[in-house]
Amino acid sequence: MKTVVLLGPPGSGKGTLALRLAGRLGLEHLSTGDLLRDEVARATVLGRRAKEYMDRGELVPDELILDMVAERLSDDRSVLLDGFPRTLAQAKGLEEHVSVDKALYLELGQDEVVRRLSARRVCKECGANYNLLTQPPAEEGRCDRCGGELYQRGDDKPEVIAKRYEVYVRDSSPLVEYYREQGVLESLDGSGSPDGVYQQALSALGHA
Ligand code: AMP
Repeated sequence: MKTVVLLGPPGSGKGTLALRLAGRLGLEHLSTGDLLRDEVARATVLGRRAKEYMDRGELVPDELILDMVAERLSDDRSVLLDGFPRTLAQAKGLEEHVSVDKALYLELGQDEVVRRLSARRVCKECGANYNLLTQPPAEEGRCDRCGGELYQRGDDKPEVIAKRYEVYVRDSSPLVEYYREQGVLESLDGSGSPDGVYQQALSALGHA
């Protein structure tokens, strides 16, 4: 069984990489951002609580996140964790369920984060990601895969992007050292093309 964690600032390409890697390696893709957006869309108790934080670009409290993921983690599942853990408390909570085999860190500077997130569009139907600058859809506003409508996430607006980056540096970037000390960290250059990052990830995981 395997547990792989993806680290990196918002917009560094974790979601895009996760979709490809999970398929190739037979890992279950677990994105806490996607799970939360689903809770928000269904207006569950968790969704209504989480929305307040997400709209401001802040992290949803650790207890809520740990409860949400706990039922999805066990030793007999192989998972690719995307957007979790995001704090040291979450990393320690994760260790109560599974041990992390590899942490892939997508390195990307703040200017590129802002540029990418401002241009990101997401399909309402299937969740596919596009970028108006680097990976535009064939037809404006429509998903190439399923024809669904593309939208801009509320937290991809400029003022929220700045806040999310600040929160990343403060709360999440210490995880890089944490996993380095555990000897499981692999740093990737997140500024390349999606294909290039995917190839780097495969070789870091011994699948090149
Ligand atoms: P993402 O799609 O990973 O960028 O997540 C979108 C938003 O969901 C974040 O800005 C947070 O508000 C919230 N979120 C997602 N994952 C976590 C997590 N592991 N811990 C706390 N908040 C999270």
